[in-house]
Formats: sequence, structure tokens, C-alpha cells
Amino acid sequence: MNDFQSLTETELHELNLNLQTKYEAFKSQNLKLDMSRGKPCVEQLDLSRGMLDSVKAEDSFKSEDGADTRNYGGLDGIPEAKKLFAEMLEVSAKEIIIGGSSSLTMMHDTLSRAMLHGVKGSEKPWSKLPVVKFLCPSPGYDRHFAICELFNMEMILIDMKHDGPDMDQIERLVAADNSIKGIWCVPKYSNPEGVTYSDEVVDRLAKMSCGAADFTIIWDDAYCVHHLTDTPDPLKNILEACKAAGHPNRVLMFSSTSKISFAGAGVAMLAASEDNITFIKKQLSVQTIGPDKINQLRHVRFYKDLAGLNTHMVKQAAIIKPKFDTVLRILDSELSGKKIATWSKPNGGYFISLNTLEGCAAAVVKMAAEAGVTLTNAGATYPYGKDPQDRNIRIAPTFPTVAEMEKAIEILCLCVQIISVRKFLKVN
Ligand code: PMP
Repeated sequence: MNDFQSLTETELHELNLNLQTKYEAFKSQNLKLDMSRGKPCVEQLDLSRGMLDSVKAEDSFKSEDGADTRNYGGLDGIPEAKKLFAEMLEVSAKEIIIGGSSSLTMMHDTLSRAMLHGVKGSEKPWSKLPVVKFLCPSPGYDRHFAICELFNMEMILIDMKHDGPDMDQIERLVAADNSIKGIWCVPKYSNPEGVTYSDEVVDRLAKMSCGAADFTIIWDDAYCVHHLTDTPDPLKNILEACKAAGHPNRVLMFSSTSKISFAGAGVAMLAASEDNITFIKKQLSVQTIGPDKINQLRHVRFYKDLAGLNTHMVKQAAIIKPKFDTVLRILDSELSGKKIATWSKPNGGYFISLNTLEGCAAAVVKMAAEAGVTLTNAGATYPYGKDPQDRNIRIAPTFPTVAEMEKAIEILCLCVQIISVRKFLKVN
């Protein structure tokens, strides 16, 4: 198929009719396909079924240090969970807190405490400042942006490049403005573009001079072990880079097993310098007597060690890779060469990011919804839900079946083409 821009008006009208007929045929099938959220599918969840039996009634409930996991205590987690997840995040067991079941909760609470009390090194609580600004590499994770919105932090959009956020833009901004207090980063297989930060980006984030002495990098390493190939993207250790740059307290790292074991019933964690961990533990001790240690024990008994966890992730990849491949195959067969869209081909993570022509994404998402395909709201991947170019669409391939996916992506591709044709014909 030709590039759409080279078509005459008559050809565009003909194409429009043709596409519209196909679209109406799909519409009459009354489909109901939900591709809106990055949820694991049943087969992925089933892989962790055995975990529910990994701590049996007749077993010992004791953790390595002899503590009864059924009882209170152990604010920062059981030693064997600290060991396993410290290894996963490449930090020491002294540099990690194992929390409850949600890393998003840990991030929310971290910023909430920053507003109320400040982070380590803050002169005053952030809420006492006239304005607090946060850098938001975009497209990014909508729930991060929702936290900023809730706390009335002004979000500054930072462009994403192929190897991470635009560091020139960031360095310029943070040096000049001490009200910029932090940045959101999903450094590996980013949500939604699947970008992994280069060593240079990691080093520049660690080294850059910031107007705010308490500038904090929220390093959400949600997809650190979620590879789709057997040649995982490497990611430089940010905590080590920050220590080497003389800013050991600049970064707070987060992750969870939500997409390793059970979404919403996994284990979440926070890693940082020992000083930061001491500071945060003091605050946490007021908030809780301790996390769910039985769940931590279940996880360690089930995966055993990092090798066991990685083997589990290979099984996950075997389930979801065909779904990613299906999306990419259809995008390629339906859209390539037409110069109306570009898309990511991630090596890991949970999403494929599709960019339409400028000004088309919201209309495409609406049109797909009218044919029964629910996608993440257009704009959701940007601060305040506003994509300045109205072109980004997040595709979440894991939950639907391959057959559902095929249909959903075919419809999506039809909508992209119809809306693009209308753009060229200047009709709505
Ligand atoms: N961070 C990112 C980047 C995510 O995509 C998600 C969604 N899985 C989360 C955090 C949420 O993690 P949790 O379930 O641990 O709260």
C-alpha cells in the first residue's frame, strides 16, 4: 500500500469507503475487547498457583532469623525476602525495605511523607513551599502522574528519547529551578514505550547539579525482570552511580512482584542508601507494625532464589511473547509503508506504544470504543491526561487471548487508517 500522503483526493475517498465498510462489519459483531490495562492473563497467574501451597499448615512459619511470620514485627521484611529482592535490584540487603503488596502505594506514601515532612536532607516539608514541581518523562505511567496531581505538584513534561528522557532538557531545568523536587523514571522497558535507559542517561541523572538539594529520583523498576527476549536490555545500577557521583541519597528505587506472582497480592519493595533506609524506617514505624511476612515467606519458598525467579519469568515470556508478536505482526501488515503511524518494538515490559499522526489519537480511541475495543484513554500517558500532540496510544497485549488480540488490533488499525484519511480529507 502507498503512503497515504501520495494518494489523490478521489483515491482517499475510495479508500475511506472501503475501510468504513470493514469497520461497520466489525461493529455489527458487538465485540467487547478490553485492552486498556496491563494486567497479567490467567495463564500467567496460574504459573504462581503453587505459591499458595508453599507455606503449608504443617510447615514452619519461621523466617531465617527465627521470627514467626504469623506475628507482628519485622518492619523492613524477613531476611530471606530482603536477600532475594536485594539481588533482583542489585543492592545490598541493608539497602532494602520489603513492604506490603503494592509499589504504587509505597511511591504514593513516599511522596505523601515528602509533602508532610520532607525527604532526607529537606529543609522543610515540601507542602510548606510555594510550589513543588516534578519532572514527568512522557509518554509515561498515568498513575505516577495521578499522584502528582493529587498532591498538587506541578508536572513538567520531559520528552522521551530512544535511550531515556531528554537529559539536556532535564539538566537545564533542574540546575535553574530549586522548586523542581524530583523526577519519575521507569528505567527498564518503560511504560508504555519499552525504553531502557542508557548508561549515559543513568550517569547524567546521578551526576547532574540540582537547584534543590533534596531532588529525588523516583526509580520505578517495575519491569526489571520482565524480558521478552533471551538478550535482556542491560541497565546501569543507579544507586551505585549516585554514590559514585556523591549523591547517595538522591534515588529511591521501587519494584514489586505484581507482574511476577499475583497482581495486587505480590510483594513490593523500596531500595535506597542505608541512610535513606534508616530515615524512612523511622517514619514507617509510626505507620505500621510490619508488613505481611507470610506472603514474603510464600514468595521466597516458591521462587527459592533469583535463578528460580528468572526461570519463572522465562515461562511468563513464553505466554505473552506470542501476544506481543501478534500485535506487531498486524501493525506491520496493516500500517507499515503508509506513513500514518509508528510503534515501539519492546524487548520487555507490558506495553506497545503506538503513535498516530498528530491530532488523531483521541479520535482513534473513540472510534475503536464504538466498535467494542476499549483502549487506555488517549492522553493518559501524559501529565494532566493531555497529550500535546494527541498521537500516543498505549496497547496492553497481555490480558486478552491471541484470537481476541487479533481482532482488537485489526479494528485499531482500521480506525487509525480511517482517522488518518479523514485528516487528509480535512473532514471529521
Ligand atoms: N509501576 C509501573 C511502571 C507499572 O506499570 C505498574 C503497574 N503494574 C505499577 C508500578 C504498579 O505496581 P504495584 O502493583 O506494585 O502497585
